[in-house]
Amino acid sequence: MRIAIGKALGGIAIALALASCSGPDAPDTEWPLHGFDERAQRFVGLDQINSDNVERLGLAFYHDLGTDRGQEATPIMVDGVLYLASAYNVVQAVDATSGELLWEYDPQVRAASARGCCGPVSRGVAVQDGKVFLGALDGRLIALDAQDGTPLWEVQTIDQSDPLAENYTITGAPRVVGDLVLIGNGGAEFGARGFVTAYRAASGEQAWRFYTVPGQPGVPDNAASDSAMEMAQETWAGEWWKYGGGGTAWDAIEYDPDLGLVYIGVGNGSPWNHQMRSAGEGDNLFLSSIVAVDAKTGEYRWHFQTTPADAWDYTATQNIILADLEIEGAMRKVLMQAPKNGFFYVLDRETGEFISGEAFVNVTWATGLDPETGRPIEVPSARYYRTGEPSFQFPSSGGGHNWPPMAFSPDTGLVYIPAQDVGMPFASAEEEQVIGAYTSGVAMDGGGAMTEEEREALYAGMKGYLIAWNPVTQQEAWRVNELAPFNGGVLATGGGLVFAGNTAKELAAYDDTTGAKLWSFDAQTAVSAPPITYAIDGVQYIAVLSGWGGGWPLTGGVMALQAGKAVGPNRLLVFALDGDQALPPFTPPEAPQRAIVSARPADEAAIARGNQLYARYCLRCHGTGVVSAGAYPDLRASGMVTGDAFAAVVLNGALASNGMPGFEDKLTPRQLEDIRSFIQARSFEDLAQP
Ligand code: CA
Repeated sequence: MRIAIGKALGGIAIALALASCSGPDAPDTEWPLHGFDERAQRFVGLDQINSDNVERLGLAFYHDLGTDRGQEATPIMVDGVLYLASAYNVVQAVDATSGELLWEYDPQVRAASARGCCGPVSRGVAVQDGKVFLGALDGRLIALDAQDGTPLWEVQTIDQSDPLAENYTITGAPRVVGDLVLIGNGGAEFGARGFVTAYRAASGEQAWRFYTVPGQPGVPDNAASDSAMEMAQETWAGEWWKYGGGGTAWDAIEYDPDLGLVYIGVGNGSPWNHQMRSAGEGDNLFLSSIVAVDAKTGEYRWHFQTTPADAWDYTATQNIILADLEIEGAMRKVLMQAPKNGFFYVLDRETGEFISGEAFVNVTWATGLDPETGRPIEVPSARYYRTGEPSFQFPSSGGGHNWPPMAFSPDTGLVYIPAQDVGMPFASAEEEQVIGAYTSGVAMDGGGAMTEEEREALYAGMKGYLIAWNPVTQQEAWRVNELAPFNGGVLATGGGLVFAGNTAKELAAYDDTTGAKLWSFDAQTAVSAPPITYAIDGVQYIAVLSGWGGGWPLTGGVMALQAGKAVGPNRLLVFALDGDQALPPFTPPEAPQRAIVSARPADEAAIARGNQLYARYCLRCHGTGVVSAGAYPDLRASGMVTGDAFAAVVLNGALASNGMPGFEDKLTPRQLEDIRSFIQARSFEDLAQP
């Protein structure tokens, strides 16, 4: 059999019994790190399950997660135990051969769950030396005893005296780097300054912190990033620090132990609008960049900026893969990323040198990359704040590729990318910075500039794909058309298979060379999280968390309903050859039928004000246009909106234990009435009987 584990960097301790070429036993194999090993290729050489027998793959067991709020996590499997991070950061340890729940830890973050852009999701935990590390929505990093879930230490990673503190969240998985554990944060849609912090895994003591964008000039950080920030500050203008500037590192952090480098994927500008953020001047380092720092000290080594002067939420936080590739006759140590901006990048990971980059989806904001520097060749009209005109561009703020991780197979030399074509109108919006309010400086509907026809064309043009990409030739090998955009993360195996979930409520397996669909399983809900594989006692398993939450289903509204209502019971699903279990029957929720009012409210000014307030406080969970594609109530059909309970819930937090915190400190009773009017208007528009 082909065993890729031997190619792993850094000697991860995995007990590997060499199996015979065609024997039935799979060698014991763990999934110890977020991306499997330090290369983070999400490729495992196991081939007991392969393209010849995958039709025999069946459900071996499942475990109900007790929520429908969305799953994004990569499970970690060590010592026969799966460590899962579910919605609201609930951690569960589960027997990896039976699904039996061993312990559960709930960090009680529901009160913080209206923070963040994209739901109370988590992308996973890290496990090392008997400890489980969890980043919590409210900014804490928590170490648990892997045996029983007992908390061992916790630190608050966000300075609570920072006026922007409430805008931060953690959704990313911590990464273990030597004896350190690293964690970043999110919040650049609200006003935040990004940083990554390294803590001693044994004690939680801080080792170093690297800020990704400069703070207020003259106010020292005393951080590992100090000298880098002197350089970065030259690329900023205006009073960016009042908004935080952005650059939150909310997902990709990878480590090359041979080079001693940590690679940080840095997020978008805060606010998005470059004029508002930086007086429309400067590249704004290190926004939308990959930054390499010394793993031990956090000191700057190199950077590559994918989107200078970001104005479109084009984060470079998407997953980073390390590989050694033969390029023009020479072996190169590379890293690869497909960030939101639509270009696939291959960089030299020792130096940061740009090797190549091409568009992997429809890209309209730039015509290509400079072949020497990799700098995008922009279309001038894309900078909407300069022209004053709405500008319709691909990709949207959701990106050509978002957080669901891509995978790389050294067997085929192909990268498998969950990708999409979705366009979006960008236009400047006058917005005041308010803590806890979505503050992008961009009107999400293009300032109302789209006609109904254009809007329908936009919806109809949305596509999702699984793309196989050759990183050496920068060409597509094949693509699978999905039902809708925003499909699941990817796993590649030595069995010639690529596994990925999708919006059609499946986990599916494809031939890694042709893209032929060889197998699928009805998961009763969309599958966004990436699958993993492992082997215990000779049996190879495929495991994935099912669930539909996160940015697109929560915010996309009617656009995210392109796939139908894809919400369902969230589960750990584990498969093996000849698995014979079945899920209990599930009836999907019905679409809302009836309006909550018999007439449109008369006060149009109140409806308009309510629309603005809804966009800043409510949309991130209840959806664009008050259409819910996620698990949250569809307010167009919620009788609660018309009664006294509305104030008790929205202002006073009567449903805080369900994850609907009160907004008493943010909204006045008058503003509540404006929001009520807007929701009633939307209900009448969509659901009133003709
Ligand atoms: Ca963002």
